[in-house]
Amino acid sequence: MPLIGAHVDSSGGLHLSFERAKAMGAEAIQVHPTPPGFWGSPKLDDTRISTFKEAAAKHGKPPFYFHAVYLINLAGDDPTMRQRSESTLTGYLKAADELGVNGVIFHTGSHKGAGFDVRLPSILEHIRKVLERAAPKSARLLIENNAGLGGCVGARFEEIARMLDGLHDPRVGVCFDTCHAFASGYDERTPADVTKTVDELDRVVGLKHVDVIHCNDSVTGLASNRDRHANIGEGQIGEGGFRALLHEPRLARLPFILEVPGAGDGPDAAQVATLRRLASS
Ligand SMILES: [Zn+2]
Ligand SMILES: [Zn+2]
Repeated sequence: MPLIGAHVDSSGGLHLSFERAKAMGAEAIQVHPTPPGFWGSPKLDDTRISTFKEAAAKHGKPPFYFHAVYLINLAGDDPTMRQRSESTLTGYLKAADELGVNGVIFHTGSHKGAGFDVRLPSILEHIRKVLERAAPKSARLLIENNAGLGGCVGARFEEIARMLDGLHDPRVGVCFDTCHAFASGYDERTPADVTKTVDELDRVVGLKHVDVIHCNDSVTGLASNRDRHANIGEGQIGEGGFRALLHEPRLARLPFILEVPGAGDGPDAAQVATLRRLASS
């Protein structure tokens, strides 16, 4: 059975997220260490680092990820915006590495109609600079697949593969979001659909590059290109799809992290319990 995790509130201090995760039964954790709608990266000092590391050790060092701010766009044609994105992502990766966090998940951004091929060299250059500037020893930089609205990069597996190929850097991996994949046209509703989608993910991207799964149902339909997360079983993918994903042996080593609305405040004990029930039935 894969580890069942959740996006957790980290307000008041990153170290507090461990207790909050435990309270909802989550075995893997994702946080927004800074408010996701604003520019900024985590500010650390020795006390914060040691407080976090002590809490991590006390809780058995669960897999732990940062989700970078939503403003990041490495794919646009505005150099100021790209530079700001590069610096923010650098700050994130550096902080993740200092805390011993597994990785930083980010959205590449939108080419806004210019086209993926046109923007790819610049995207790669910025990611190279992020890695060079942050020089992480263990934290990984994780590209998330996208729902595909408005020229957002990474909706098709081929685009993610071309970024990985272009970088050819073992410090870069992938976060696979089930809702975004479905919205991009990769079906996951039945066991056969899941097999086909995971086959394709493996063939095009390579499962060895995938570090973590964002486990979300989708409010909107297949290939809708909308990014609207639903609670597990309450969306278009449905319980059958998630049961198949959770039982897919090739995904068993990956943490499944919920980013669902819950009762309105995000992932909760009920949603974690739903995944655990589907994983064991
Ligand atoms: Zn996600
Ligand atoms: Zn999303």
